[in-house]
Amino acid sequence: MEKNKLRNIPKVDQVLACDELADCFENTEREIVINNVRTVLDEMRAEIIAGEKTEISPVIAAKRAAEKIKSADIPSLRKVINATGIVLHTNLGRARLSQKAAKNALEIAVSYSTLEYDLKSAARGSRHDHIAKLISQITGAEDAVVVNNNAAATLLCLAALFKGKEVLVSRGESVEIGGAFRIPEIMALSGAILKDVGTTNKTHLYDYERAVSRKTGAILKVHTSNYRVIGFQEDVPLRQLAALATAKKLPLIYDMGSGLMVDLREYGIDEPNVENAFENGADIVLFSGDKLLGGPQAGIIAGKKKYIDIIKKNQLARPLRVDKITLAALESTFRSYRDKKQALSEIPVLAMLTAPIDKIRDKAEKFAVSLGKLKADIAVQEETGRIGGGAAPMFDLKSWAVSVVPKEISVDKLERALIDWETPIIARISEEKLLLDMRTVLDSELAAVREALKELL
Ligand SMILES: *Cc1c(COP(=O)(O)O)cnc(C)c1O
Repeated sequence: MEKNKLRNIPKVDQVLACDELADCFENTEREIVINNVRTVLDEMRAEIIAGEKTEISPVIAAKRAAEKIKSADIPSLRKVINATGIVLHTNLGRARLSQKAAKNALEIAVSYSTLEYDLKSAARGSRHDHIAKLISQITGAEDAVVVNNNAAATLLCLAALFKGKEVLVSRGESVEIGGAFRIPEIMALSGAILKDVGTTNKTHLYDYERAVSRKTGAILKVHTSNYRVIGFQEDVPLRQLAALATAKKLPLIYDMGSGLMVDLREYGIDEPNVENAFENGADIVLFSGDKLLGGPQAGIIAGKKKYIDIIKKNQLARPLRVDKITLAALESTFRSYRDKKQALSEIPVLAMLTAPIDKIRDKAEKFAVSLGKLKADIAVQEETGRIGGGAAPMFDLKSWAVSVVPKEISVDKLERALIDWETPIIARISEEKLLLDMRTVLDSELAAVREALKELL
């Protein structure tokens, strides 16, 4: 019986002759169509052998192949609607760019540009120059250089300046960020020598003092972005480290992670910002472009010119450098900070983080009402979330969510269906309810979410 069925599997040519594939031939290479047909026939064979009740005919195979070809047309990297409430969701791409940054990136992407051309001298220029002055103006750094991400910034800084030298790091700050970035491993990779000081919970100034020797190249302070040690804890503030570094004639490096440019304390978010880091005496500050800075993925090395000059000339600067599209988006992002009030509204990360809670509640309530009658219980509820992206891990970000409890399908099924939606909608399940957090859903996306729910419920 099985053998009979296997014999019924059509030949490739029979499938290719079916009308169902006619459209595919118009806009897909013949080779790709044939490969997809072969794949479908292989799948059919495997299904029959596995005892599944697969229907077999050239037309059915052609339909399946056409579907495969069509679905391969949908980009793999594509837009989703973030209804998780996590503003810097690393899996969903961290920061959204501002409109200005996106527009500038697009223009530079499709045009020729001054990437390495100096208009004044009509001669070769440097890609670093576009943004260095701007970063200096905003942060107080003397100079800056941009690389692929903060991990690259740390690697390049250590490799260029401290190869073979000891770099002092508190045991309480020997961080891991998302698996791939670990201070001891980055340090080893760079050729610098990690010199642990203090203990996990307490590190004193004298721990650093005692560790300084002729072999010491620098003091590195690392912001404990994604965790906090609480209880019997002490670390040495940047300012005190700066005094020690000056006395010992050592550079003080600060890996601060998020690259915050404004003071968010009035919103309850107590994260260090770049300007303060320089005021407190850091010689070099390293930070990400796509965390609280709110720009594209990048790593910024900012600080004293004498160090930046050496860093720029290191062989690693080239392999770690950023492209023009990133530079364009980053320049526009930094430009927004020339007026910090404006930055709060222009930079999506900041706008979402500082959105008044009443407004979010209002949005949730209006959206819930707009859903009308569905086969589900709809309500709004207060939520407590996280900023995400390894920033302010203890901060409870209050928000409001629309909760959906479907009556005829399971909540898991609804979650799955939303993920499978044309524009995938990423929500969260808590206590058997599907929660759509309104902090991260844009006004312009509400209609799409509504349409999905109306269709599914
Ligand atoms: C996030 C973070 C990094 C890594 O930054 P990427 O831009 O993701 O490479 C390094 N150090 C600290 C302290 C961080 O918070």
